Amino acid sequence: MSRAAPAAEPLPSGFAQALIRWQRAHGRSGLPWQGTRDPYVVWLSEIMLQQTQVSAVVPYFHRFLQRFPDVHALAAASEDEVLSLWSGLGYYSRARNLQRCAQLVVQEHAGEFPRSVEGLAKLPGIGQTTAAAIAAFCFGEKVSILDGNVRRVLTRLMAFGGDQSNVAAQRALWNLAQKLVPADPLGDDMTAYTQGLMDLGATVCTRTRPKCLHCPVCEMCEARKSGTQAQFPVKTGRTLKRHESWWLLLVRRQHPSGQAQWWLERRSANGIWAGLYCPPVYGSETALNSTLERSLLDQQLTACEAITHQLTHRELRLQPMLLDLPATSTLSSFQENGRWALASELGDLGLPAPIRPLLAGL
Ligand code: SF4
Repeated sequence: MSRAAPAAEPLPSGFAQALIRWQRAHGRSGLPWQGTRDPYVVWLSEIMLQQTQVSAVVPYFHRFLQRFPDVHALAAASEDEVLSLWSGLGYYSRARNLQRCAQLVVQEHAGEFPRSVEGLAKLPGIGQTTAAAIAAFCFGEKVSILDGNVRRVLTRLMAFGGDQSNVAAQRALWNLAQKLVPADPLGDDMTAYTQGLMDLGATVCTRTRPKCLHCPVCEMCEARKSGTQAQFPVKTGRTLKRHESWWLLLVRRQHPSGQAQWWLERRSANGIWAGLYCPPVYGSETALNSTLERSLLDQQLTACEAITHQLTHRELRLQPMLLDLPATSTLSSFQENGRWALASELGDLGLPAPIRPLLAGL
């Protein structure tokens, strides 16, 4: 692919006005986090929407708000409960940061979110673009968001060829994005503008097959004029997906109540599924077998159907191995951070997305 040179000014004129008009007439409306200036609600939705589709977020958003209606309720919750409600949404560091952030807002800001990008961006888990979204939606600050979708819209609009793997080029695009913000926003113009950027990137200026004929800024878009939409954004340092195989040891025993009990271990605070409960994970079948206690070796291990689980930069092949133990068995050599969990308790524990249906189906 030929590398286009970074765009030169002047910037497209009338961009902000065209976008605001289009958003009010054709943009997304009626999403559960729209129509409010409550920073708690906007913050919660923005964190959930990072790397996640709107349709996946909506039920989680409702459940969270019902259980934690304000920042005080979230700050006072246990980490287990927060992780359990987040379970299935992925990127679990977001959930832990969410709670740390709520605690900080309560302890150091008397329960009120800071009102500027600068103050918001100092809170855990709030990056520049999330801070900008909260500041624009809730406080009308003249500041641009710049997530992956908006980066795509703006690089195409201006045929901006700076390599987005490069910090200097990212900063240059950010500066241009700031110059496109409405100069004298009235009323809720900043809300419509910010929402318009999000909507355009999500529904019109899509990664493949952008709908340029329906685009409100079609006439001023440099990439459309030259037919080079597919060349933007320029990003050379794309990460290739890694493939890994994991063996899961599913240890089950019968509880006196008649229910199944599963052995689960809390994963470390870093890495994949950080902080969640999960059956013991091994990098190979040999590693799994060598961990089993001598007394358990004569128990029958059953290989269950393997599962493929997609993460952003990794594809995991999960091979579950089921081990049924007599009711009185203990696992003395297993990790101290493990516990037996009744099948009926699984709903209250933070479990990785593929693990919950796997255990429920056995
Ligand atoms: S005209 Fe096409 S490429 Fe340009 S901003 Fe609109 S949808 Fe994106």
